[in-house]
Amino acid sequence: MNKTEVYNMLAARFGLFYDGANDVLHGQYEGYDLLIYAPNASYPYLLTVHTAARIVSGAVLTKDEINEFKKGVKPITNLQQNGTNISIMLKNEPKPEKLMENLMVSVNALIPFLKRMGFHPCCNLCNQQVETSAYKAAGNFYHLCEDCAGRMQSGISVETYERQQKNENVIGGVVGALIGSVVGVLVIVLLSQLGYVAAISGVVMAIGVLKGYELLGGKLTKKGIVISVVIMLLMTYIGDQIDWALRLYIQGGGKEEGFTLFECYRLLGLALEEEIIEKGSYYGNLVMLYLFLLLGAIPTIVSKVREKKEAARMVKIGSVGDYGVYNQ
Ligand SMILES: [Zn+2]
Repeated sequence: MNKTEVYNMLAARFGLFYDGANDVLHGQYEGYDLLIYAPNASYPYLLTVHTAARIVSGAVLTKDEINEFKKGVKPITNLQQNGTNISIMLKNEPKPEKLMENLMVSVNALIPFLKRMGFHPCCNLCNQQVETSAYKAAGNFYHLCEDCAGRMQSGISVETYERQQKNENVIGGVVGALIGSVVGVLVIVLLSQLGYVAAISGVVMAIGVLKGYELLGGKLTKKGIVISVVIMLLMTYIGDQIDWALRLYIQGGGKEEGFTLFECYRLLGLALEEEIIEKGSYYGNLVMLYLFLLLGAIPTIVSKVREKKEAARMVKIGSVGDYGVYNQ
């Protein structure tokens, strides 16, 4: 059974709909609007059940009440109340039948619990007990009435417009990226001095540079990403050079012969020519670093770009939107 088949099965047994484009189950169950989805796409069977409800007095669940509820329902790892957002997280369960059972037990514990505590279904924004539909906006799920959905849509449009209007400060961005890259360089040097070359240095370099650019440059555009990549490539090289200079200085006896670290750095080319540094391990190390940079940078850039696209988007769950075709 693949994921789509499993989700379709769950939807059928609960009387919900499966929106394949947004990868979410939605619909009414015992009077409450439910959204069931996997927050992390890498774990499609680690599910969250989300509904919008509130106690008329606006009361918030106490820690004891939450713990008491969790204790009685094995598959539930957490219950969260964030304003009118109520969600439960389930254990990861890749076996379809067991997942089905866990979900049944959990939802059939949640709904009576909400009823008992006096929670009424409502709109996530205006808190009113009105008919709601499910939406995905800026990457998050909501249950909204028609008015609030309209308001949120225009809010997102304004934000997107303002972001587009914001000027990109390229010089600031470059400065930010360079500052961010220092962290990456430090990790490369530190790990290497400890005897490792690890993928984490690539991730740190990529995140540091992109974050730095965005913070001081005001926003991250395609141009910013290209500049950031160049800085990553350059600074990875510099990190490697500093690492070798340190090796010459400390292990290579440079310090004892009275050289400074900076002199060792400048003598690297010569050391390589004279085979004081073995060419094989020098280039091998560099290739590894760049490989790890690729490994770290590509997913980081892809998720950054996706995050930006999501931030500007609002779709009604179950409708034909720009996400794709509604898949019942
Ligand atoms: Zn509303």
